[in-house]
Amino acid sequence: MCKNKNKYTIKQFREEYPDDNACLDKIFKLTHGDMTECPKCGCTKSFVRVKTRRCYQCRSCYHQIYPTASTIFHKTTTPLTYWFFAIFLFTISKNGLSACELQRHLGVTYKTAFRMLRQIRILINNDERIMSGVIELDEAYIGGKNKNRHKDKKVKNSQGRAYIDKSPVFGILERSEEGTSRVIAYTVPDVKSQTLKPLVYDKVELGSAIMTDEWNSYTGLNKDYEHGICFHGKGNYVSGENNDIYTNGLENFWSNVKRGINGSYIHVSRRYLHLYMKEFVFRYNNRDKSEMFNELINCLAS
Ligand SMILES: [Zn+2]
Repeated sequence: MCKNKNKYTIKQFREEYPDDNACLDKIFKLTHGDMTECPKCGCTKSFVRVKTRRCYQCRSCYHQIYPTASTIFHKTTTPLTYWFFAIFLFTISKNGLSACELQRHLGVTYKTAFRMLRQIRILINNDERIMSGVIELDEAYIGGKNKNRHKDKKVKNSQGRAYIDKSPVFGILERSEEGTSRVIAYTVPDVKSQTLKPLVYDKVELGSAIMTDEWNSYTGLNKDYEHGICFHGKGNYVSGENNDIYTNGLENFWSNVKRGINGSYIHVSRRYLHLYMKEFVFRYNNRDKSEMFNELINCLAS
């Protein structure tokens, strides 16, 4: 079944951004707003685009503004249309866009494609507001060469948590009645209590209901939160009087991450894992938005 939620089509995209000037206008608008007056001379004659450079100039005092200066496009020699198209492809791909794919689509080198994707991930500005209500907490291990990786979450409290070639990640999910649950995820050095708890206290409002498995790093959170524990080790994945003690929302998110990384990225180095997590959080939190492209482009404004 094709839900086709991403309603922003290639046709619309090409009409809106036919050339580098259109892209630059958009970047200028997002980074500088409407600019009704010149910050230097105060005149209201507005700015004109300088033909040969990525630059706008005040009609009165010739003060110049380079809108790409503080953005991911700073000093790039790649055409802005390529960048915008890369962002478009990034947002329409379901499980991620690999540098190989981007290289093929744009006809640039692998190195350029790789760098562009890294910059696009840097552009992402996720919603990291405090969470409240019903919250799921869960940790997972990403990457590594273990062929049976799907088993690593089956038996909690086993050596599954200590696979040395995998990187630990920690997620916090805020459930929503409307099905628009929101997630925050971190790459962490380990999943010890002293590592995870500060992240919980930093992001989850005191008194919220938190749902976890029996991993002992969560012990003690019941002092400040309502704590529901689901004993995965005993094969329980849903418990509680109202069947509301589970971490399936996050399990689902982790499986998206793993599918994306295994399917599109093959190998993700630890050095960049935090950027991939940023990407998957963005994909998850915007999964129902019809215009993920504009969500991402609008990050230029922040
Ligand atoms: Zn001026």
